[in-house]
This record gives sequence, structure tokens and C-alpha cells, in this order.
Amino acid sequence: MRVGQGFDIHRTSDDPSRPLVLGGVTIPGALGLVGHSDADVVTHAIADALLGAAGLGDLGQHFPDTDPGTEGVRSIELLTDVLGLIRAAGYTVGNVDATVVAEAPKLAPHRAAMEASLSAIVGAPVSIKATTMERLGPIGAGEAIAAMAVVLLEGSTP
Ligand code: MG
Repeated sequence: MRVGQGFDIHRTSDDPSRPLVLGGVTIPGALGLVGHSDADVVTHAIADALLGAAGLGDLGQHFPDTDPGTEGVRSIELLTDVLGLIRAAGYTVGNVDATVVAEAPKLAPHRAAMEASLSAIVGAPVSIKATTMERLGPIGAGEAIAAMAVVLLEGSTP
């Protein structure tokens, strides 16, 4: 078994037409995040945790934000590609646990959808938790959303 952790943060966009996507789920009524892709911080944190657990580098290395081919891409597509690398290396995912840190919007109504979306892609249980920064710092001021993730991989190459 191998464990990996991931972290990501993206700034809040001031473009009202940019959707907020977390865990592959579009959250209505909230400003989106700035990023080369859809800026899905939860999915990015999970992908980085998977790569870390397998010793396969990080998301930026595999999908540089200078690549026009991934501009505006849905991050769950990047996650799917990462899972391909993980499986090719002989691992299966045991489980994923992630925390979203956001002052707003309230994520509890969307948690089940995020878990279902991500579990379907990962092929293992995914738990999503949400917390705020108690209005402290830039996340607390709504200027960014961050996410952390831990994953367990099972199996290994000899
Ligand atoms: Mg990111």
C-alpha cells in the first residue's frame, strides 16, 4: 500500500460567466475560479495525491498550464488520464479523502454529487468534506478556494 497527499488553491475569478466546478460538479450561483483548465481545485488535489502516492511526479509536470491543448479542459478528464498512469503502474485506488476549504458557497448540498462524480471516475470510495477559514485570510475573504486530498493506493510493481 502507498499513501499520497495533494493540495491546490485557485483564485476566485471576477468573471461572472465563469462557472465554479468542484469535484467535477458545477455549483450554481457562485463565482468560478481562475485557471488554465476549469480550475477544479478538488480534482487537482486528488490527482496530485494519486501521482504522489505512485511516485509519478505532479499534475503540473504531466499537464503544464502552458499547454494550449489543456486550456479550458474539464479537470475530471485530467484525473481520468492520471488514473490511467496509476493503473499502468500496477496500482488500484483504495480510497480518497478530500477537504475543500471555501468561505462560500455552502457545499453541503453538493457533497453527495461531488462524491458520486469522483467515485465513478476513481473506481473507489471518495469522501468530500468542506470547511471554512472562519473568515481568516484570503480564503476567508472569498478570494480563493483550496482543497487537500489523501489517497491510498493498493498493489504495486515488484
Ligand atoms: Mg490547480
